[in-house]
Amino acid sequence: MYIVQIASECAPVIKAGGLGDVVFGLSRALERQDHAVEIILPKYDCMRYDHIWGLHNAYQDLIVPWYGQAIYCSVDCGWVHGRLCFFIDPHSNDSFFNRGCYYGCDDDPMRFAFFCKAAIEFLLITNKRPDVIHCHDWQTGLIPVLLYEIYKYHGMGNQRVCYSIHNFKHQGITGVNILWATGLNREDYYFQYDRLQDNFNPFALNLMKGGIVYSNFVNTVSPHHAWEARFSEIGCGLSHTLDLHHYKFGGILNGIDYDVWTPEEDSYIPAHFNPETFEKKAKNKTALRERLWLNHNDKPLVAYIGRLDQQKGVHLVHHAMYYALRRNAQFILLGSATEPGINSWFWHEKHFLNENPDCHLELGFNEELSHLIYAGADIILVPSNYEPCGLTQMIGLRYGSVPVVRGVGGLVNTVFDRDYDMTKTPDQRNGYVFYQTDFNALESALDRAIGLWHYYPDEFRELALQGMSYDYSWNNPATQYLGIYDYIRHK
Ligand code: ADP
Repeated sequence: MYIVQIASECAPVIKAGGLGDVVFGLSRALERQDHAVEIILPKYDCMRYDHIWGLHNAYQDLIVPWYGQAIYCSVDCGWVHGRLCFFIDPHSNDSFFNRGCYYGCDDDPMRFAFFCKAAIEFLLITNKRPDVIHCHDWQTGLIPVLLYEIYKYHGMGNQRVCYSIHNFKHQGITGVNILWATGLNREDYYFQYDRLQDNFNPFALNLMKGGIVYSNFVNTVSPHHAWEARFSEIGCGLSHTLDLHHYKFGGILNGIDYDVWTPEEDSYIPAHFNPETFEKKAKNKTALRERLWLNHNDKPLVAYIGRLDQQKGVHLVHHAMYYALRRNAQFILLGSATEPGINSWFWHEKHFLNENPDCHLELGFNEELSHLIYAGADIILVPSNYEPCGLTQMIGLRYGSVPVVRGVGGLVNTVFDRDYDMTKTPDQRNGYVFYQTDFNALESALDRAIGLWHYYPDEFRELALQGMSYDYSWNNPATQYLGIYDYIRHK
């Protein structure tokens, strides 16, 4: 099959969040299953050029219609760790992608509307006719709209679109200008509830809604998050739209990159291990304690790795820290906060706990240290308020660290409570789950995990090994996406 991914990120060359990892990881898994994949991206000034091999000009005069006139673009091409990527580079005074950032500009909807228009023009002009165009998040929500309202009449009638939503929070709410800029024009036609009109603001267009309405299939990044988006406030106003289109909506769990996350080969950790050599994990715990100046004692190590913000349940992270210390455990936190209030809160805690030999807070982003923490910790905490998929619990499982998570989004689909899960047999369970957002709920789960470590070490070890036996690589998700691609091609 010939698949073109159109996205605003692709790791590691352009990465702001999980989206970049998905675009790269999925593309590689699809290629490993012998499918042809190309990726179209904006050419940002601030992307990691050192991760692109053989960057060269692939197309010189891409003329993109824009506001009844045109913007000239060139298209560069290169390989990002083996993936063939095309980078759209508009030559206009708007400097759409030369802003020193990926997102966060006032005219973001216009920047990415232009990207959509240019990407689809590029496909048209270069005679690329993929079986499936796979788009991601609001930034590319206009692709299926443009395809079905304009480009199918120009020889692109056979292309099908799969649209993946990674985050419902950002939907690309914008004004009428987008229609005039992209040549969609007909204001009355698009400002309809069953087309692009925002569900809250009748005077605004919603680009993500456009993606949902016009795509052949829509998914979010875990089955449970798909359910939440359709039936709860997690859908951020799009629940009804998803409900109307439920027949083409589902959830597919993300994978993690096994080339990066394999404790047997991880170059960032001192002691490699697998389920057969699980006892070597203890050496990583020792190395981690040495590195962070923690006591070597008979206590479990509880760790949190992640952004420090409301989504991640930051009040529960904070509570867990003190609760773990009280319950005879050690606690390590690796996280960064963008919100100033949360940032200063955790800096204060860091200073307050500085002398505590059972606790370490590392504030900032540190990829290398995160590997050692996954490998050295006994328990990984993920108390999120909402979590479309979540990678930390899957990485924790892979490294034999037992996850303690809140039962939301993708966490529900990946972590199964040792004591209470009804869907798995005891030998398939792999962690602890709590549901409410209060301290008692968190304590009940963390308490069980710490208690098992202290009083039933063999059973704790067994639980960690059961977690390691799960396959959360990209193989399964890629197969599921292929199933969807096949379905929409032949529908
Ligand atoms: P998000 O909502 O931030 O995308 P995910 O769980 O999907 O959350 O992915 C988080 C990823 O980022 C994981 O791979 C985690 O290890 C990594 N990560 C988060 N914070 C840090 C940090 N401070 N240092 C190193 N890695 C981090």
